[in-house]
Amino acid sequence: MLARILLTATLSLQFIPPAIASDFGADDGGVTQGAYKADANAPGAVEQALTAVGAGSADEIKGRLFTYSITVFSPEVRAQAVAAFSASVDQRGITQGKLFRRVEKIFNCVLQLHARSGKIELFLYQHEIPKAMLWRGCVLALSTGLADPLSDDELTAIIAHELGHSYFEDEMASANLTKDARAMRVIELKCDAVAILSLKLLDRNPALHLRGLQRIGEINRRKGRSYSIFQSHPDLSERAQFSQRFIHLLQSSEVGLLDNSSRK
Ligand SMILES: [Zn+2]
Repeated sequence: MLARILLTATLSLQFIPPAIASDFGADDGGVTQGAYKADANAPGAVEQALTAVGAGSADEIKGRLFTYSITVFSPEVRAQAVAAFSASVDQRGITQGKLFRRVEKIFNCVLQLHARSGKIELFLYQHEIPKAMLWRGCVLALSTGLADPLSDDELTAIIAHELGHSYFEDEMASANLTKDARAMRVIELKCDAVAILSLKLLDRNPALHLRGLQRIGEINRRKGRSYSIFQSHPDLSERAQFSQRFIHLLQSSEVGLLDNSSRK
């Protein structure tokens, strides 16, 4: 029972092996903080993630981050994954209605940006707690408690973050194997970079990624849930710091590009 409370009582939570990258709450298996190394609060995860993401224009960073060297699952495997997720949350997916149509439109837009159209299933389900995860690498599961209150752009960022996990499957497997909480936090920040960059490439405001996280935090606080009790995820202040610095980096490279073109 305690394990279940721990698993559900967090906004942004535990690492689950690569097939099931999970954020914003999950009820399925995973590793809780006790299993991770004690150096989780060592400084530098933000620097490490920024170095890994590197500098340059949005397109250059996209070339490095959106690698496409990711596993593609057959329609049969995806159908099995949907059925398994449905059973795990004891809910059927919502496949019609205003909210579904809004989420589906945003989901398809993000998939298109990442060249994954038709390769990932959307599973929207009824649950009051904000939850999002990439289940078995091929099902983007979202709770109504997350999808409903967020704006289109905030939801775009959350979906892009989840999709981002598929770019770091090897790193996640390695970090999980060695129970390296710091490496997991760096991976989470890199998924945040994917989210921020996705907003930028879609001509949306990149800062809305952080606002989405803050709003989820507020919803959880209202429901009496704490933010992050798992060392495998960065806390909101660390994510804010990363977000601000990464956006600044994108903006300065843009200014640099403008300066160069005006000198030509
Ligand atoms: Zn994540």
